Amino acid sequence: MDTRSLNTWVELSSAAYAANLRFFRARVGTGVELSAVVKANAYGHGWREIAELAVRSGADSFCVHSLEEAQELRAAGFGHDVLIMGHVPLARLEEAVLGGFRLVLYNLESLERLGEITARLGTTVRVHLKLETGTYRQGVDEQNLPGFLAALKARSSLRLEGIYTHFANIEDTTSHDFAFEQRWRFERMAAMVEAFGFAPLLRHAACSAATLLFPETHLGMVRLGISQYGLWPSKETFLSYTLEHGRSAAPVLEPMLAWKTRISQLKTVPAGSYVGYGCSFQTTRETRLAVLPVGYSDGYDRRLSNQAHVLVRGRRAPVRGRICMNLMMVDVTDVPGVELEEEVVLLGRQGEQQISADQLATLVGTIAYEIVARIRAGIPRLVV
Ligand SMILES: *Cc1c(COP(=O)(O)O)cnc(C)c1O
Repeated sequence: MDTRSLNTWVELSSAAYAANLRFFRARVGTGVELSAVVKANAYGHGWREIAELAVRSGADSFCVHSLEEAQELRAAGFGHDVLIMGHVPLARLEEAVLGGFRLVLYNLESLERLGEITARLGTTVRVHLKLETGTYRQGVDEQNLPGFLAALKARSSLRLEGIYTHFANIEDTTSHDFAFEQRWRFERMAAMVEAFGFAPLLRHAACSAATLLFPETHLGMVRLGISQYGLWPSKETFLSYTLEHGRSAAPVLEPMLAWKTRISQLKTVPAGSYVGYGCSFQTTRETRLAVLPVGYSDGYDRRLSNQAHVLVRGRRAPVRGRICMNLMMVDVTDVPGVELEEEVVLLGRQGEQQISADQLATLVGTIAYEIVARIRAGIPRLVV
């Protein structure tokens, strides 16, 4: 697609993605299932484009949050296993069974309903039991586990394929005692499951941070989210990794996403002018302003008002005034020769300069995950 016909678009580097997946395949080895987490529109990258790249780069399966996401993958022709990690409404479990997906299990009600459905249809369903090890999100806790396993055992059409858990405190710290505690709880509960006669099972626990930091958590499968896209889960994860491996050994995860736009108006305003809603910025000099056709409804956070920079002709241009719903203004006074419809980088590299998801996240007090996940799905994604 010719980007000159677009006001804003996202570019995805297939080379960066492939390099990231090569790194992770080498890290986990060939015996471990490498599952690409493509929930939330592949963290805002574009699920269809990422699913295609993932398959091409050797990912073994997908993890999604919702039934809709799983159905979209199937409808687009992806035949790989898909684990639905979020709740499927009881009323839609039959669709999930018919779709042949792997389903997370942690509610007795879902278990019973799946039992009825599979018995009625004369079919089976693969389930992955989620074990509560201390995150207190989804999962069956240890004291309820025997009762849950008994109910599962009574329903032979539910095929327990896997057990898994999720760590609460790897990304936010460089001290990982809590994660180790969760791992031991997981081991203890896994032993209970196997004592019930369910072996051998696919076990999995590792998100990006665990995959990067703790090979002993790789088990049978890793659920790779943010890092496949070339973003570190956190500064703490980067720090922990480099403490362990040395700075030079840090894998060069390559961010694959660039978010771009084009200037839709240029104007020169006198010193002392106010810019945008609320008159939150006043120029102190004659200023060359560029209007950009991107706003908070596109996922460019309104809290970046008067905070962020964008890249124009390889230079950083500051955001002036409030981010509007569909528009924003930047100061290009110090960037000579700027023209209408000139390409502007909101996120990514241009020349020597880079605007990273981490930088934007720090400015608004969130994490890189949220910065990319909120990029509006309707914006075209171009694989380059
Ligand atoms: C989102 C998610 C992941 C992926 O986490 P990253 O930190 O992005 O790698 C893994 N497991 C579960 C259960 C998740 O919800």
